[in-house]
Amino acid sequence: MLAYTAPSTVEEAVRALAGASGAAKILSGGTDLLVQLRSGRAKPDLIVDVKQIPDMAGIAEHDGGFVIGAATSGAAIGEHEALRAAWPGVVEAANLIGSTQIQGRATLAGNLCNASPAADSVPALIAARATCVVAGAKGRREVPVESIVTGPGRTSLARDEFIVAFHLPKRPARSADAYLRFIPRTEMDIAVVGAGVYVTLDAGEVCTDARVVLGAVAPTAVVVADAAAALIGRKLDAAALDKLDAAAQRACKPIDDKRGTIEYRTKVAGVLARRTATIAFERASKR
Ligand SMILES: Cc1cc2nc3c(=O)[nH]c(=O)nc-3n(C[C@H](O)[C@H](O)[C@H](O)COP(=O)(O)OP(=O)(O)OC[C@H]3O[C@@H](n4cnc5c(N)ncnc54)[C@H](O)[C@@H]3O)c2cc1C
Repeated sequence: MLAYTAPSTVEEAVRALAGASGAAKILSGGTDLLVQLRSGRAKPDLIVDVKQIPDMAGIAEHDGGFVIGAATSGAAIGEHEALRAAWPGVVEAANLIGSTQIQGRATLAGNLCNASPAADSVPALIAARATCVVAGAKGRREVPVESIVTGPGRTSLARDEFIVAFHLPKRPARSADAYLRFIPRTEMDIAVVGAGVYVTLDAGEVCTDARVVLGAVAPTAVVVADAAAALIGRKLDAAALDKLDAAAQRACKPIDDKRGTIEYRTKVAGVLARRTATIAFERASKR
């Protein structure tokens, strides 16, 4: 029989996970989990609903950066003006998830821990160097977002662990992020490719720091170091864009499916990396 519990503290939730005799699943917005329960793909013995934990919802500014509670909905993220101004790429990625109805429920933690290679918020969070706070029976630890997903549907979290918050660092002057995805339909579809880019520029528009992350082109989001290297030390000219495009394409190890062939996904990755970097540069140069 499926058991359900809705703890009111993080510690109670950890105890419930640690004490579960069978498989336990965290429930945040439920927009992935409920679909999987109905289809029979997920068969947990215990559901731990963390939406009732007050500490886990909401957004706070901290040390010039932001703490986003893991159970905060996409809608709440989109409505936070300071967060939108500081990290527009993360917010636009979170707000691409689903429809208005889905936005009222879906969370960053659920998007990450569902571990779909095409999850929209994940490349943007990684590009922004976001970290997550993981709570478990041994206490709390803070890890980079990119250390959580180990493969499709798999995470590095222990049985008694779950994510309680995300940290976005203080954004340096003249830096910005952006996220774009390509989908075959106009909305409500799964990314064929997603691209998150973060850049910092100096006073002469030369890039001094960059992160380029691709989604949906490999089993997990890919941090493309060569693509960042193509931008650093340069202005965004045609040569830099060509190098970025080539590096993004080289990093792809996509699947062939009804949304796109390997060749198509690889080509789109280069194009999206160019477009996303152009937006990030434009945003950074205005700051
Ligand atoms: C109609 C529809 C459209 C969608 N469109 C998109 C889209 O455009 N882009 C996209 O990326 N996704 C999309 N999704 C998928 C889904 O909405 C997102 O992945 C969403 O962010 C999941 O968040 P959630 O809070 O609902 O997760 P849940 O369903 O609550 O959980 C998902 C998984 O994460 C685990 N989990 C949840 N919270 C935590 C936590 N705090 N710590 C550890 N593990 C946790 C759960 O146990 C479960 O395995 C769509 C889904 C639907 C139904």
